[in-house]
Amino acid sequence: MIGGRTLTTYAEEEVFSKDKMQQLQLERLKKTLARVEKNVPFYREAFDRSGVSSSEVHTTEDISRLPFTKKQDLRDNYPFGLVAAPMDEVVRIHGSSGTSGKPTVVAYTENDVSHWADMVARAIYIAGGRKGDLLHNAYGYGLFTGGLGLHNGSERLGCATVPVSGGNTERQITLIQDFMPRVICSTPSYLMNIGETMIKKGLDPRATSLAYGILGAEPWSEEMRRSIEEMFGIKAMDIYGLSEVMGPGIAMECHEAQDGLHIAEDHFLAEVIDPETLEPVPDGEDGELVFSSLTKEAFPVIRYRTGDIASLTREKCSCGRTTARMSRVKGRIDDMFIIRGVNVFPSEVERSILQMDELVCHYQIHLKKKGSMDHAELHVEVCEPFFQALPDGDLTDPVAQELVKKIQYVLKTQALVSMDVYLKPPNAIPRSEGKAKRIVDQRTAEAVK
Ligand SMILES: [Zn+2]
Repeated sequence: MIGGRTLTTYAEEEVFSKDKMQQLQLERLKKTLARVEKNVPFYREAFDRSGVSSSEVHTTEDISRLPFTKKQDLRDNYPFGLVAAPMDEVVRIHGSSGTSGKPTVVAYTENDVSHWADMVARAIYIAGGRKGDLLHNAYGYGLFTGGLGLHNGSERLGCATVPVSGGNTERQITLIQDFMPRVICSTPSYLMNIGETMIKKGLDPRATSLAYGILGAEPWSEEMRRSIEEMFGIKAMDIYGLSEVMGPGIAMECHEAQDGLHIAEDHFLAEVIDPETLEPVPDGEDGELVFSSLTKEAFPVIRYRTGDIASLTREKCSCGRTTARMSRVKGRIDDMFIIRGVNVFPSEVERSILQMDELVCHYQIHLKKKGSMDHAELHVEVCEPFFQALPDGDLTDPVAQELVKKIQYVLKTQALVSMDVYLKPPNAIPRSEGKAKRIVDQRTAEAVK
């Protein structure tokens, strides 16, 4: 039930006219601004500093006059400094792991949890899930929003929800075979890992009951999507979310078009900015995604800089929905590396790798220092048949060295990056049971030596 209705078609907000959506957004934005200005000293002071008051926001575009919020602001106000509701109205707390050791903390009222469940139910429906489906949820349960976020939305839609969580791949496979789910939720890299493990055990991933995958929580490429779809014989859809803004379900790709992720615009106002100049960029151009929440009570965010690079389109989708769509996330600003003046995201390297039949999608990029220059090494696994055909599995064999040259050529011409390439035997790169680790940064360690 979504707002008292069983979801059997679009939610009405998904097919609003632009005017109607903007009117709803403005009304909700004003309420949100008044709430944070009244209850959160951080926002009150930030608005004061920039000389704008929430009462001066008359259109949704006026949001660009307000200051940004960054992850550091969440850390500075750890744990509950940004909570905009009385603590006795908070019914849920989540967090995300931080590099500094302490998580960034977010909170939800009962209404927040309910809106979130509605959004995720809608997202699962957009991806092809239906009431009565069995949904295998391999997202991690815990402080991370992935597991419980998907879980509540799945129950809200009316799916039989299996809270498997991440890890224990053998058990994942047993439950997929025995329970016969129609939908699976996971990170793309972990689903790949499950598929490979099945093949190793002599099982055919295409023979499972799975029809749809709802995959996200890490940047992935179109080529990775095709590999997963081929491996399992399913349709794989991209889901977007981050705990600082809400959790999964902020945007979801439709199974009809698989062409960009529909943003839940009745709950979030999306912008894309140039991360250097902080100016808005036009639709269709890549920049940093920025979200403001419109309905959250306990933890509203105003112009939160996500660090994720993507673009927006406001053209109507062939599925019929009118909501703005974001492109798949190209990468995180933190993961971007610069080699000889060229900005590179791991997902661009991944796209090149997956075009070659000799390689599988298990790779790591090691960043090192050579003198004062940054230098990147690609460590990538070859596929089993290629490895078996090499004399004694010798990766220095001329055939393997030819492959190295070919990879370097593809990287140079497509991702515009020069990298040293190291071929690895099958299973040499650590497998992910959650978010894959694509970048190994050894620059600081080497600089100390
Ligand atoms: Zn669509």
